[in-house]
Amino acid sequence: MRSEPRWVSTLWRSLPLVVLAMISACATVPHTGRNQFNMVSDAQLNELALKVFDEIGSKEPASTDKRLGEIVKRVVDRVSKAAESLDGPAFKWDIRVIDKDIPNAFCLPGGKIVVYSGIVPYAKNEAGLAAVVAHEVAHAVARHGGERLSQKLALRGAITAGGEVLKGKDGKLDPKVQMALGALGMGATIGVVLPYSRLHELEADRIGQIYLAKAGYDPATAIDLWDRMSKIKKPPIPVWLSTHPADEERVEKLRESLPETQKYYDAATAKYGRGVPL
Ligand SMILES: [Zn+2]
Repeated sequence: MRSEPRWVSTLWRSLPLVVLAMISACATVPHTGRNQFNMVSDAQLNELALKVFDEIGSKEPASTDKRLGEIVKRVVDRVSKAAESLDGPAFKWDIRVIDKDIPNAFCLPGGKIVVYSGIVPYAKNEAGLAAVVAHEVAHAVARHGGERLSQKLALRGAITAGGEVLKGKDGKLDPKVQMALGALGMGATIGVVLPYSRLHELEADRIGQIYLAKAGYDPATAIDLWDRMSKIKKPPIPVWLSTHPADEERVEKLRESLPETQKYYDAATAKYGRGVPL
C-alpha cells in the first residue's frame, strides 16, 4: 500500500483547526456591509499593536508643540466618541504626536493613534486633521489591519495551531509578523509610505467621513483634504496599474457620499465647522 504524502496527513490533522479559523474569520464591515476574512483575533492584534506603539514612542521624537498636542487630543476625543456611538469598538485610545516632517498619521489596531507634525500643512485646520484621524480610525474599526495580516498569513500557509498562529516555537513573536504589523501601522492615509489597497482606502474614506460629521466637523472638509493631498508630488502611476485609488477617484466618491454624511452633521449636537486653523 502506498503511503500518504506527508503534507496530506499534516493538512488532514490540522483541518479542524483550519475550519475553525475560517468560521471565526468571517466578519462584516460597518456601514458597507462587506464580508471580510479575518483570522487574527483582536487580542493578538492589540498585543502586536501595543508593541509597535511603544516602539514608536521610544524611537521617534515626541512633539513639544503644546497647542498642536491639545488640538490632536480634542480631535481624537471627538472622533473616537463618534466611532464608539456608531459602531462601539472596544478600544483603549491613546495618542502620540511625533515631531517629524512627513505627511503621515495612522491608527493601530485597538485605537493607538500616531500623528506626525508633517501632516499639519495638508490638514490646514482642525477639521482637516479630524478628517485624517477619522479616516485612520475607520481603518482600525473596519479591522483592515487584521484582514491584511490574515491575507498575508493565509498566503504564507501559516494557518497552524489555533492561537499560536503569531508565535514562534520559543513563544516569542515572529519577527516577520512584527514587520508585517509595522507595515500595517505605517499603511497610512497619505499613500506616501505604504498605502492599503484601493478597497480599504475607499472604505475608510466613506466610514471616516461619517465619523467626521458625527464628531461635529463639516464633512466637506474631507473633500478639500484629498484635493490638497492630490497635489503632493507622486510618481505617475496609471490608476489601473495601482492598487491604490487615485486621489481624483477619492474626491469624487467623497462628493457622492456628502449628502448622506451631511445628515450626521445636521444631527450633531455640537458643530465645530472647520475648527481652528493649524
Ligand atoms: Zn488609508
